[in-house]
Amino acid sequence: MKILISEPGDYSKEALAIYQEVGDVFAEKKLSRGELLAGVKDADILVIRLEHKIDKEILDAAEDLKIIACPTTGLDHIDMKEAGKHGVQVASLKGETEFLNTITATAELSWGLFLALIRHIPDAYESVKKENWDRDSFKGIELRGKTLGIIGFGRLGKIIAQYGNAFFMNVVAYDPYVNQEEIERGAAESAIFEELLSRADFISVHVPLDEETVDLIGEREFKMMKESAYLVNTSRGKIINESALLNALKAKKIAGAGLDVMAEETAGGEFLKGNLLLEYTKSHNNLIIVPHIGGATYDSMKNTEIFIAEKVKKIL
Ligand code: NAD
Repeated sequence: MKILISEPGDYSKEALAIYQEVGDVFAEKKLSRGELLAGVKDADILVIRLEHKIDKEILDAAEDLKIIACPTTGLDHIDMKEAGKHGVQVASLKGETEFLNTITATAELSWGLFLALIRHIPDAYESVKKENWDRDSFKGIELRGKTLGIIGFGRLGKIIAQYGNAFFMNVVAYDPYVNQEEIERGAAESAIFEELLSRADFISVHVPLDEETVDLIGEREFKMMKESAYLVNTSRGKIINESALLNALKAKKIAGAGLDVMAEETAGGEFLKGNLLLEYTKSHNNLIIVPHIGGATYDSMKNTEIFIAEKVKKIL
């Protein structure tokens, strides 16, 4: 049984030991797309992270593939229909509610982005590095008493609601697939989409990317937001229409935004060349972009890698 790990950097030793119990592990280095295409040919199990798009070309090349193991909840980088056609099972974190409730990394980053934005942490730090001690330039605003609007009240949305309450905020949530009682049990007030957009001082996005959520936030939605609103997206880039976001920032229709994800993410960051949002950050301090680090903590990566390896073992 050949087990190919396409991005083995810092892989959990415990997870590797589990894979070694069931097969021969190939985990020498991070694979390029060409190396992945060649390596996957005789692999029985492909263990990935987020670097590669697992599309028809890869699945056609993978003659013996039985399982794709991926320690993420978002699976838009895998062509699931094509995997099904090839009889390949996908072992992921999707739907693993009990386990996922213990993984808070992405929610913590969303909160970090809000705080970094409203307290100007990146700029204040840069200023101190230049030997300035200038507190007047970095006056911020507080969370207490403000309204937090959560779009998507699943695992992360519910955790964010708890953070909002801990920071003495009014918490409202919109999720057409979660009933009002469940939202109230999660210590939030249920609101319809438009109401949330117009009431919230802070908007946090926690929905999966699918046909329904592509461009969920575009020109129309930015128009409804408060000019003082801050928006944070750690879900997937395409959920926010990037040109509408740029227009909203330029026209001061919102106060700022924090992004962990972008519409056209590619490994290595080539997509950033000439990217207009990135250009905007070079002359403005109300847009913070970080490179999809939401789930990237040692704790969460180790725990999820072990969980997925155990899942693969069970499937086998
Ligand atoms: P989840 O499945 O537990 O919750 C998603 C929620 O969104 C569900 O309650 C669902 O009903 C709701 N939803 C679906 N369509 C909606 C719509 N049109 N409007 C409003 N709500 C809608 O997922 P989660 O674990 O909370 O994660 C949310 C997303 O975060 C994932 O899909 C993934 O893309 C992303 N994510 C990013 C990172 C990162 O590293 N940045 C890490 C983990 C997850």
